[in-house]
Amino acid sequence: MNNLIHSLQHLVSEASAASSPQKRVGGIVSQVKALMDVGVCSLYLADAEVMTLVATEGLNEASVGAIKLRMGEGLVGRIAKTQHPLNVECASQHPAYRSFPDSGEEQFEAFLGAPVVHGGVLVGVLVVEQRTRRKFSQEEESFITTVAAYLGDLDPDDFQCQRDGDLMNGLRGKPVVRRIRGVQGASGVGIGRIVILTGGTDLMDVTDTETDDIQAELKSFGRAVRAVLDDLHSGQQKLAKNISADVAEVFDVYRMLLQSSEFSGLVIRRIQEGNSAPAALRAAVSEYLEKFEAMEDPYLRSRGEDIRNLGNRVYARLRESGELKISEEEKVVLVGTIVSIADIAAYPTAQLAGIISLEGSALSHTAVLSKALGLPAVMGVGHLGEFKQGQLIIVDGHQGEVIISPPPTVLKEFEQLIYSQQARLEQFGKLRDLPAETSDGLRINLLANTGLLSDITPGLSCGAEGIGLYRSEMPFMTSKSFPSEDEQHLVYRAVMEAYGGMPVYMRTLDIGGDKPLPYYPIEEDNPALGWRGVRFTLDHSALFMTQIRAMLRASEGVGGLHILLPMVSLVAEVDSFLVMLDSACAQLEEEGIVIERPRVGVMAEVPAITSLIPFLVGKIDFVSIGTNDLSQYVLAIDRSNARVTHLSDHLHPAVIDTVEKIVMASLSNGMDLSVCGEMAADPCSVVLLLAMGVETLSMAAYGIPEIKWVVRNISRSASREQLKQVRKYHHPEQIRSHLRAFLIDQGLGGIFEPGMGAMIT
Ligand code: PEP
Ligand code: MG
Repeated sequence: MNNLIHSLQHLVSEASAASSPQKRVGGIVSQVKALMDVGVCSLYLADAEVMTLVATEGLNEASVGAIKLRMGEGLVGRIAKTQHPLNVECASQHPAYRSFPDSGEEQFEAFLGAPVVHGGVLVGVLVVEQRTRRKFSQEEESFITTVAAYLGDLDPDDFQCQRDGDLMNGLRGKPVVRRIRGVQGASGVGIGRIVILTGGTDLMDVTDTETDDIQAELKSFGRAVRAVLDDLHSGQQKLAKNISADVAEVFDVYRMLLQSSEFSGLVIRRIQEGNSAPAALRAAVSEYLEKFEAMEDPYLRSRGEDIRNLGNRVYARLRESGELKISEEEKVVLVGTIVSIADIAAYPTAQLAGIISLEGSALSHTAVLSKALGLPAVMGVGHLGEFKQGQLIIVDGHQGEVIISPPPTVLKEFEQLIYSQQARLEQFGKLRDLPAETSDGLRINLLANTGLLSDITPGLSCGAEGIGLYRSEMPFMTSKSFPSEDEQHLVYRAVMEAYGGMPVYMRTLDIGGDKPLPYYPIEEDNPALGWRGVRFTLDHSALFMTQIRAMLRASEGVGGLHILLPMVSLVAEVDSFLVMLDSACAQLEEEGIVIERPRVGVMAEVPAITSLIPFLVGKIDFVSIGTNDLSQYVLAIDRSNARVTHLSDHLHPAVIDTVEKIVMASLSNGMDLSVCGEMAADPCSVVLLLAMGVETLSMAAYGIPEIKWVVRNISRSASREQLKQVRKYHHPEQIRSHLRAFLIDQGLGGIFEPGMGAMIT
């Protein structure tokens, strides 16, 4: 058992490192056969009641795609039907046995199979067979069950390409049309060429990527090696007089290693196996590093660092030559594990067609950022293996999926959709100067969420009446270190001036959790519950004071500043902030800077705040509900975890109840109240918010026209009736479909047709 368990860890780590879904699934099948020392290992996939053999080691290759069993038919069909493992000593004597001549299966007697289930749904059956009659041991049964469970945890798309035979297409060198499901990050459709973000400048961060053009990769590796050799030579010459013999030796060691056929041969072999040059280089350097780390001599062990350093030098040269040359007219789609704000800032917004993040979910920061910029985004698509630099791709933010190398017919359809999308935006433009007023005369304030200077103009042109949430962590994320007071002042001032006296809710630094700072990593087991928001800034009071001063100075002579504290869960946090605010105001006064004392408020995003609002009377002026984090904490669903994010919905009755309690507590205690999470941008939930008495909504600028259209076409009295009616449902989907029906009834059905213009009034 120990052996098999050990092998299991090996199998899982090999599978996770596989460079493509095909290799992953194929690799698992052949490893299971070898590790269990059996005659056959096969994988069947379920498709509408039919199980098809999609991968085998041991059966006749021609049987792949040809052996099909209905649910309940044969031993495989029986496992599918019962969703239970089957361990049979002599398969041919089993009553459910079904034979397939020519498959070669008749020689095998011992049979063991287990169902593969994903998210509660059967996706396939994993089988091993052996010639000798015998019952497989409990250890073997538990091994196969565990491997099947691991297969079940993979992305269903990994299987899809086995089924589609994409592997064969790929081998023939044809562009592979692939549809990959993720989750919706930001709605809209975009078409552009893929730019893969390689994950920073450290070679060790490079992910496995394949290449279609082995010759080109070999050439760029050769060029990079020559360039580094030149760099080493000129570096050594420059320093010749000033360096000691042992330092000069390091240059020699580097040169020798680069010129050694052993090292270069390793990289070249990996490239010839189909890996990209950076991936091949990383693999070779890792192999060398392992060898050095295993050495006993501490001096030699420490030379591993030299290998790493050298690897990074070659990688830097490879990046230069491998950079995709894209003209400024061409649209690009950024693809990365996580697409950071700095990645986005490297391109003019007009050139970006979409964002694809391998990790993350609808509420992660990359998604929030994409919405702010009006860029379609798909999150949580899994592996990089499928994506190739420069390929054409469609990002369908409505469906949460991407299409790689779309055929012309599909491309045309999506181009049409983009066209209608633009037409719709133009239609909405007509509402810009009309008030957001319900049909029974209630005036609603629509503000913008922002954090980038580049979305100030969209905010104003979409009719924002102020900024309801300025995410101040954004300028911190684009900086290389904590920005100084003057640097912050410059950015905040531009925002305050652009909105000239309109309310601007500036949130103090909210880092930690889903918002990491590249230059200040915080390692925590449970970051969502950790050192984040105001907990972090109060502990770093010097940084906090710098930010408060910069915000106050930015409001000089303009007014409208509201300071918003994130992640508050204790009254004491507000008290500590107020002491700092008093001190900052006094300091500025002494310096001759005249400012109005800003209004102060808290984000309601930790559920604990619900009970604290009465204790905050006299201390704060307003409450802003952050429904993204509030939903995360009420539902215990990590907003960045693509595995569970589909379970999160702000229309869950528990979220609706919590929001309503916060609204009531705030209004009854005389505080101003706004909602700035995604709930404010969802037409369905807006109906409920209006019913509760919310009069200020803040959202990504591009969402404002649609919400204005909704507000202008419903009455508060009708919305109150809807809030009453949804009380009878326990499932968010029931609530959503009830509210959709209501909106369609009000003539607002156009909202639910992506890109379709409707008569806008
Ligand atoms: C929220 O949590 O709802 C919110 C608006 O803030 P962020 O998404 O930036 O955490
Ligand atoms: Mg939040």
